[in-house]
Amino acid sequence: MASAPIPTLTMAYPNRICNQCGCVCDDIVLTVEAGTITHAEHACDKGRAWFLANHSYSAEGPKAWVKGQPFSLTAAIDTAAEILFHARYPLIFGLADLPCEAQRQAVSVADRVGACLDTTLSDEHGAFDAAFQEVGEVTCSLGEVKNRADLVIFWGTDPVTSHPRHGERFSLEAKGLFTPRGRADRFVVVVDVEETATAKQADLFLKIQKDCDFEVLWALRGLVRGVPLRESMQKQTGIEDKVLLEFSNRMKGCRFGILFFGPGLCATRGRQRNAEAALRLVKDLNDFTRFYAKPMSGPGNVSGAENVVCWQTGYPPSVHFGQGFPRYNLAEYSAKEVLSRGEADAAMMVAYDPKTPFSPAACKRLSSLPTILLTSHTENQLPLEIGFRPTVIILTALYGICEAGTVFRMDDTPLPLRPVLSSTRPFALDVLTNLEKRIQELQTQRHVAMKNEQGPR
Ligand code: SF4
Repeated sequence: MASAPIPTLTMAYPNRICNQCGCVCDDIVLTVEAGTITHAEHACDKGRAWFLANHSYSAEGPKAWVKGQPFSLTAAIDTAAEILFHARYPLIFGLADLPCEAQRQAVSVADRVGACLDTTLSDEHGAFDAAFQEVGEVTCSLGEVKNRADLVIFWGTDPVTSHPRHGERFSLEAKGLFTPRGRADRFVVVVDVEETATAKQADLFLKIQKDCDFEVLWALRGLVRGVPLRESMQKQTGIEDKVLLEFSNRMKGCRFGILFFGPGLCATRGRQRNAEAALRLVKDLNDFTRFYAKPMSGPGNVSGAENVVCWQTGYPPSVHFGQGFPRYNLAEYSAKEVLSRGEADAAMMVAYDPKTPFSPAACKRLSSLPTILLTSHTENQLPLEIGFRPTVIILTALYGICEAGTVFRMDDTPLPLRPVLSSTRPFALDVLTNLEKRIQELQTQRHVAMKNEQGPR
């Protein structure tokens, strides 16, 4: 006899947020049937794959492990607190896959234990951040790009692959107030070392030679200011001089220009100096027209992590609280550097993104330390993805799908996350709050014990 059909409750949730790239699309319509997301309307393939992945974790299974054994959540938090409390040089890093509220709490834990704090992708974004500190940033929202930009430049980035709906929503086909014909109202330029999917859609593709971003940008600065090239740059850069001149004139002559730059710009020789040259070029262009610059941020809440750490400490990534106040030095306090020098004696990875794996040397170092991992990934992925087994593992609810909060789009616009599924796992914010409370108790106990040892005055 055929079994009776299982009754299902189908719910549609409009205006949900995808955080799988810096676009943070907020127009996704999710359909949930019997506790599972079955449709993600408006999402691109990348976003859809994330929404439709299996998020129904076992309700009964353990939520925490200590040394490979299932533990209660409270006991695991206690163990994590002990590790951080006793560490001389704790390292806390990750933060990108968390809502801002939990990121703020992670900063507070780092401050309490005097840790070195670093964010995911600090290596990549650090070059941008250092350039911003040097030059400043002429910036705008993606809404302004959609409504006004008639010249769009992508430098060292391929958004058709990395940010699939960027073009549709903001920069290529998007129709705005002053760009009513969408793509027909925009001139699109791609500058890269190889022809990318975005380059194929551009009006002008400048294929430059590897390691000459700085030279091209600096030459453009001169041309924009009316300084002619002293000698041909074609051999060095791979671009004809007259094309460079036309490009500089186009930039000066546009109504509203935007330069989106990506990891490709800082991955070549010059790194931070390349980003600095791009920002200076944009600054120069504002003597003639409106021109803006924006880095293309990566997946998760990377922009949120940088914003939150900056609000709390004054610096974006790589901050050290060991002296009782925040100190910043990208070359000294990034997780990669601290681990490679073997300084950290304990580490907590908060929502660490396994897509940016550690080097074998860092993995080796981490596997010799007491480590804590807070993650929303499934338990059976863990050893495989991060290369070693942390001392304490706490599984948290998936933000955006199960946990509410705030995320930042790549243009630093905050957007609210509204969950569609419930989870039996704890929220990262609650775990971090309880962790800090427990550390505070341990600190108070030590303080009292020290006072008692000293005796009455
Ligand atoms: S473009 Fe990015 S944020 Fe938008 S749906 Fe695709 S992956 Fe998600």
